[in-house]
Amino acid sequence: MKLKLAIQKGGRLSNKSIELLKNCGIKVSNGGKLKSEASNFPLEVLYLRDDDIPQYVADGVADIGIVGENVVKEKAKQLAIAERLGFAKCRLSLAVRRELNYTGLVWFNGKKIATSYPRIVQEFLKEKGLEAEIEEISGSVEIAPSIGLADAVCDIVSTGSTLLANGLKEVETVDYSEALLVTSENLSNEKSQIVERLLFRIRAVNTADRSKYILLNAPNKSVDRIIELLPGMKSPTILPLAKGGWSSLHSVVKEDEFWEVIDQLRAAGAEGILVCPIEKMVL
Ligand code: ATP
Ligand code: MG
Repeated sequence: MKLKLAIQKGGRLSNKSIELLKNCGIKVSNGGKLKSEASNFPLEVLYLRDDDIPQYVADGVADIGIVGENVVKEKAKQLAIAERLGFAKCRLSLAVRRELNYTGLVWFNGKKIATSYPRIVQEFLKEKGLEAEIEEISGSVEIAPSIGLADAVCDIVSTGSTLLANGLKEVETVDYSEALLVTSENLSNEKSQIVERLLFRIRAVNTADRSKYILLNAPNKSVDRIIELLPGMKSPTILPLAKGGWSSLHSVVKEDEFWEVIDQLRAAGAEGILVCPIEKMVL
């Protein structure tokens, strides 16, 4: 019995999806084929266009898939979200011509919006009580205003540089997205167990990614204060240094907290601070 995982074949999700499997210790060879099998885990990988992944998983052609939340919402298939994966973060935004004096959402009333996400845009307009026409196009949405196809666009933005290059400016955020692990809603027990094993590994990798192992030296009189500052897993490890009156403290801190904590630790007397990556973390 093998679990069938659908991932994007070439595109913004592919490398990260393959890297995630690799970090989970799962070996898949991909020689540009449509299908490959893991050698050390009951997994078969299918390489597909991201737009097709929700449907394939809902239909049971694949058991699970890695796909952007934006695509999951747009396709609105019967799927379960097993895990938010934290990569391919972007937002879906409304953008208008840069020279336009944009005054607020009511501007969109009676306008034409080009997008590849008609369902999401329609829901947004309804929620805001707006009426606008939606022009569905599948690619290069950002050129629509300059060729006179639409007044505005709704598209994926991460840095905004594509919009800028096309003379557009972002004016409203419609939604946020990141890669999701989705599963079919009717998996056999046996397949659900394989999903659980995979999720266990994914969580170990992602938790580790968000954390750093920190080591530092401090005079014994500062140890209590430093322990207060370290939001460690349980309590930090404290080892005596060869140098009298000094200790070495080890703990785990969250990536996004560590700079702030490090400043406070230094102020409290910590020296020789090392911040190391953690490969896997099982809580
Ligand atoms: P396909 O050929 O498979 O249909 P595509 O062109 O539709 O590919 P990509 O551009 O590879 O799709 O984007 C795939 C997903 O990656 C998007 O649906 C979105 O979730 C995410 N994404 C897109 N653009 C960005 C970005 N600039 N930064 C971060 N994530 C992004
Ligand atoms: Mg696509």
